[in-house]
Amino acid sequence: GLCQQASFMISAAKVDQCPPDEGMEVAFAGRSNAGKSSALNTLTHANLARTSKTPGRTQLLNFFVLDEQRRLVDLPGYGYAKVPIPLKQHWQRHLEAYLGSRESLVGVFLMMDIRHPLTEFDRMMLDWASASQMPLHILLTKADKLAFGAAKNALLNIRRDIHRQWGTDIGIQPFSAPKRQGVEEAQQVLAEWLGL
Ligand code: GDP
Repeated sequence: GLCQQASFMISAAKVDQCPPDEGMEVAFAGRSNAGKSSALNTLTHANLARTSKTPGRTQLLNFFVLDEQRRLVDLPGYGYAKVPIPLKQHWQRHLEAYLGSRESLVGVFLMMDIRHPLTEFDRMMLDWASASQMPLHILLTKADKLAFGAAKNALLNIRRDIHRQWGTDIGIQPFSAPKRQGVEEAQQVLAEWLGL
């Protein structure tokens, strides 16, 4: 795989703790429990995201280095009931600061549970990406939870809605971590964005 060398780099609680804004990075976003950690681990063949799982931690962003010029960034998941409101506000402020200022950000992967797409968080990310012309690629996770026909229908419906509302540039594909469905397609997008 492309990202086999991925390893833990740094956690940042604030934008000014991020690594130097050089080279290229792809950010991974999703409502909590959407399958972001599983997708990151599946795509990188590593257990990268375990360190970033504990809700209530103060870290904002977790950076994983692929090589000197390339990084993946795990953005905080929204929707943990256990996270106190001030911490949610802290995340939101700093997430906006990161997304709004990061020069090396070349694209965002957005994870959505295929059975529960287009949450409020997802709509916010879609609005932001289309307003800022940031490339976005969507993984419809847990595709294995639906039968083949139902998964196909869900994909077509979600794709139609997103392309109508936010534009046709957005890539949307089914994904399953345990079945390794959609892994190659997702890795190709990563490779293209990161110039690999
Ligand atoms: P995160 O909070 O977005 O990082 O979500 P996780 O990756 O931790 O996944 C949340 C739960 O969904 C865990 O119990 C995972 O095992 C499960 N999960 C994640 N991806 C998949 C998938 O593709 N298929 C199935 N069946 N379960 C998944």
